[in-house]
Amino acid sequence: MLAENYHSALVDQIKTDDFTFRSGRLTVHLAREFGFCYGVDRAVDYAYQTRERFPDRRVFLTGEIIHNPHVNEKLRAMGIEFIGHDEDAVSALGKDDVVILPAFGVTVGMLERLDKRGCTLIDTTCGSVLNVWKNVRRYAEGGYTSVIHGKVWHEETQATASQAVAYGGRYLVVLNRQEASRVCEVIQHAFTGADDAARDAFVEKFGGAASPGFEPGRDLQRIGLANQTTMLMSESLEIGEMLKAAMLERYGASEMESHFQAFDTICSATQDRQDAVVALLRERPVDLMIVIGGYNSSNTCNLARICAQSRPTFHIADPDCLVSAAEIRHRPVGAKAEVQTTPWLPTGEPLTIGLTSGASTPDNLVGAVVAKLADFARPPA
Ligand code: SF4
Repeated sequence: MLAENYHSALVDQIKTDDFTFRSGRLTVHLAREFGFCYGVDRAVDYAYQTRERFPDRRVFLTGEIIHNPHVNEKLRAMGIEFIGHDEDAVSALGKDDVVILPAFGVTVGMLERLDKRGCTLIDTTCGSVLNVWKNVRRYAEGGYTSVIHGKVWHEETQATASQAVAYGGRYLVVLNRQEASRVCEVIQHAFTGADDAARDAFVEKFGGAASPGFEPGRDLQRIGLANQTTMLMSESLEIGEMLKAAMLERYGASEMESHFQAFDTICSATQDRQDAVVALLRERPVDLMIVIGGYNSSNTCNLARICAQSRPTFHIADPDCLVSAAEIRHRPVGAKAEVQTTPWLPTGEPLTIGLTSGASTPDNLVGAVVAKLADFARPPA
């Protein structure tokens, strides 16, 4: 069923042809790593198997299994219900119900609530996410605050942060380099006064992204690094270096081990997809880039971010966004909403387009995009 729903013969052919598709004036170069990662593949496979294994029982997902509207729609069509943020829905679950936990995991609180209801749990949490949790728990037990490079609103980061609290620790989520430099300032200047305006400004800024009762002067003396697995990896590494340098300045090399911890928690699938798109941009003379994936998919947004640094880039949610050769719907990097652009496809020839897709995008959507591009690039009959 999985192959039937998500496979693309066209994409297989493109891979065989050196990841290149040619048709008339159009050349499409596909990144050498793209689409479903091992964690997503496994999660979707488990969801299909769950439906088959428990045909007569109610099957639920805590939320989106992955950030792809097509995949979630297919699961809905199979009779799998979504709980989302509905507390009443959790309370209404019983021991005959089956609940699938998504690839990016759930918070400790959610797991406890589900466990209390006595339902059967199918845990698809990805091994790479579990690896991050293992380190966060280690930090908590060692008295280190987990500084998590991630998006505070993302399910995975919320789940990771909850691990720190469950093990008696603290956490602080930083989104980007700018936020990391605010943290570095605290580390370097070690402010502690309760009435300190800088301390208050920091708490106001990071209050929603830190563990309850977070006190920057106290809680940033010993830190351990973690990250949401789908962040821009070059940025995660850079933030790690910034924080390390700040700790070094504050405490000196001899004290570093007791103040600063870092383990490699970078997800290889995310890294491979980002590396592949960087290589494509370096090696292929593409006129523009198309990135396919859900607008709420963190790893897809980061692929688009990389592309937009050097090429006109269109992040599209699915093939329907390619309305015509003159019109495209897409979400610009950093924007909150989808926009419409006309015209978008260069009319001259030859036309070379680079293509990649996020870790939650099935191959059939990539194939459909290539087919549409070929159609749009064809000269009028
Ligand atoms: S992006 Fe990485 S961590 Fe997330 S599901 Fe895929 S393999 Fe796992």
